[in-house]
Amino acid sequence: MQKNLNETKYIFITGGVLSSLGKGIAAASIATLLKNTGLKVSMLKADPYINVDPGTMSPLEHGEVFVTDDGAETDLDLGHYERFLDESLSQDNNFTTGRVYSSVIEKERRGDYLGKTIQVIPHIVGEIVGRIKKAGEGRDILIVEIGGTVGDIEGLPFLEAIRALRIEVGRKRAMNIHLTLVPFIKVAGELKTKPTQHSVGELRRIGISPDMIICRAEQPLNRELKDKIAASCGVERNCVIESIDSASIYQVPLAFYNQDVLTPIAEILNLGELKLDMRNWDSLVKRIIAPTKETTIAFVGKYVDLKESYKSLTESIIHAGASLDARVNLKWIDSEKIEPSNVEELLKDVGGVLVAGGFGERGVSGKIEAIKYARENGVPYLGICLGMQLALIEFARNVLRLEDANSVEFKPECVNPIIYLIDSFIDAHGQTQIRTHQSPVGGTMRLGAYACDVKPGSLLSQIYGGAKSVKERHRHRYEANPKYRAEFEANGLIVSGESDGLIEAVELSSPAAGAKNSHPWFVGVQFHPEFTSRLTNPNPVVLGFIKASLGNPK
Ligand code: GLN
Repeated sequence: MQKNLNETKYIFITGGVLSSLGKGIAAASIATLLKNTGLKVSMLKADPYINVDPGTMSPLEHGEVFVTDDGAETDLDLGHYERFLDESLSQDNNFTTGRVYSSVIEKERRGDYLGKTIQVIPHIVGEIVGRIKKAGEGRDILIVEIGGTVGDIEGLPFLEAIRALRIEVGRKRAMNIHLTLVPFIKVAGELKTKPTQHSVGELRRIGISPDMIICRAEQPLNRELKDKIAASCGVERNCVIESIDSASIYQVPLAFYNQDVLTPIAEILNLGELKLDMRNWDSLVKRIIAPTKETTIAFVGKYVDLKESYKSLTESIIHAGASLDARVNLKWIDSEKIEPSNVEELLKDVGGVLVAGGFGERGVSGKIEAIKYARENGVPYLGICLGMQLALIEFARNVLRLEDANSVEFKPECVNPIIYLIDSFIDAHGQTQIRTHQSPVGGTMRLGAYACDVKPGSLLSQIYGGAKSVKERHRHRYEANPKYRAEFEANGLIVSGESDGLIEAVELSSPAAGAKNSHPWFVGVQFHPEFTSRLTNPNPVVLGFIKASLGNPK
């Protein structure tokens, strides 16, 4: 069903009234429908904030930092795009004001502008236009989401860029979709369209007329209300689309499909007749909403109140649940509250224990306590990044009885550095091929996708369907110290994944092998499996973990 256009067409998505209306989900939903018709679709998120990338932003404030294959630290919306589209994006698919200004300033310092005065128009706007075009190269459709809300001062150059680009490419090659809020006012007992009208008025003032309005609302909009919005905002009647609060974000493409959203898009962009089949997506969504099986996972972390910072992981668990026809309840456990005296009470009724990635020492002792409980009681355990590092520390302390076993992240001078700095590793082993990025707050991060060799016959190999090598994404500063490898392995904790001598995955041997300290399902991975999980293609490690938890009789 491959359908090729010979030029890139653009759909620009702006937001009005307030932030957090789900512009990213709306954009990804439209992209999903278009991709399903056989078109080559990509997405771009343009963020008006000044940070060069979100890598240094607190997850408490900004949610998760998403990592692409090529090692870019991006906005979490890119994660949604990948999860919906089932495509890997790159650093070209997200940029910020900070990034735009730094490249313009760099060019200015190099003398590229031949003595000209550098201004927002044309230089900054030109840089934005250039980056949008680059992200669309080789694609039929590029969906561009402009972060923030219309009316924000810092958003102006971005809006000017999409206005200018539409004029440059012509009307049949670009369209504007504006997402707004239609609030329900209790005392009046009705939905109100005025904020939408004002927001469109604001867009018009800067020269952008929307072709389609997506209305976020708590309740459905009747025909009369939609017609009122169409008339007052100057769009066709079939171009007012509602987006009602739904139980799952994955319902949104289906809700748009049922409103026939592609018909006006195809008309505006001259795409011809579009055919699509959403049956597979529909059946996955049904299994998210009303599955037949159920399990509970203990999610042990320190950001328990900030679930946004684990977005990819919680979504990957939903994907695994949909694939296994299971509801996966998450029992959020604040690791700072876990002690030897209450660990059993907290974990005795869960199907599995999950310790996710994290930075800093706060909450570490509670996580180690939870890992010990899972290891000793045969509870399925998945440790991701810090969760793998702590599994090694727990084993070193409680099984190998190594004195003062720790990570140099928490105790630089510890006697047994089970986990140590990538930098020292590079020095000691000359592993200069490791791609690391100097972070502005000091230290070096290993970022992006790396191939990992999987040990034949291991649980990890079974998880990946016998694959000899897999590619997963990283975001960390420390590594497992190979000096202790033989001792770990002699005691049943084996290395099942490695990459150029780096320890990428560990597991406890299966009870069938008759080894010491065996366990039915205990896996630690240095990479983040959640970053490559998609609704239609769940990550094997997360899937294997949820499957094991479903099989746990607790
Ligand atoms: N803090 C650890 C490191 O930097 C783990 C990082 C993570 O879990 N993402 O290596």
